[in-house]
Amino acid sequence: MGAVGAAATPARIRRGATILNLTAGHGRPLHVLAIGAHCDDIEIGAGGSLLQWASEGHLARVDVMVCSSTPDRAEEAREAAHAFLDAVPQVQVAVHAFRDGFLPHEGPALKETFEALKATLAEGASPDVILTHWRDDRHQDHRLVSDLTWNTFRDHLVLEYEIPKYDGDLGQPNAFVAVSDEHVARKWELLRRHYGSQADRYWFTEDTFRGLMRIRGVEARSATGFAEAFTMRKAPLALDSGAAARTEAARDSVGALRWGTT
Ligand SMILES: [Zn+2]
Repeated sequence: MGAVGAAATPARIRRGATILNLTAGHGRPLHVLAIGAHCDDIEIGAGGSLLQWASEGHLARVDVMVCSSTPDRAEEAREAAHAFLDAVPQVQVAVHAFRDGFLPHEGPALKETFEALKATLAEGASPDVILTHWRDDRHQDHRLVSDLTWNTFRDHLVLEYEIPKYDGDLGQPNAFVAVSDEHVARKWELLRRHYGSQADRYWFTEDTFRGLMRIRGVEARSATGFAEAFTMRKAPLALDSGAAARTEAARDSVGALRWGTT
């Protein structure tokens, strides 16, 4: 598999690499649901991809759900989400107040929160893509959020993002989104600006995030040199070979997603 992009701009694509282009039915912009255990997780794991996709006009709507916060950190998370997603027409941010580090001990209430989210989304358009934690992340909160995502959402494309940390649990992700130099820099600029509460953490530095994106960029043969990486466990594929495929798309497949190659 090559890199995965949301209908990436051809100029960004390295010739010779096969790229799977992710598009929703009829090529409309995507509706993304992003779920994080803690206030900065989504931006650390997928902030570059969200900036990239939003700048290219591929995002119609993003719903953000953060599970754990304090009042101060909740405010940081809301401001950060809106800053990362300021180019997205519709953004919904929900920040809950479960206790950091204790999510497995609040299982029933957290499960109810996921079910409530599912019910809310069912009233509107269903997300095309769900971003969540990597299933084998060693942080107990991250792992539970990943499990609950898969428990709750059965008809969606789920991409699991990664978080660098003390545990040393980085895996071998299999889906990559090329991130431009500009958005690599912007990701850190927004993280630093909006998460002041994390400024004294030894790992909260530009080189941590830039370094990981550089390594993933090498693995992806990213034309920009940088990428964010995800684990994609399952993905129903449909070859989009033109108008016939687009007509068929109206009949819906899982998540109404179509994949083409470049
Ligand atoms: Zn976290």
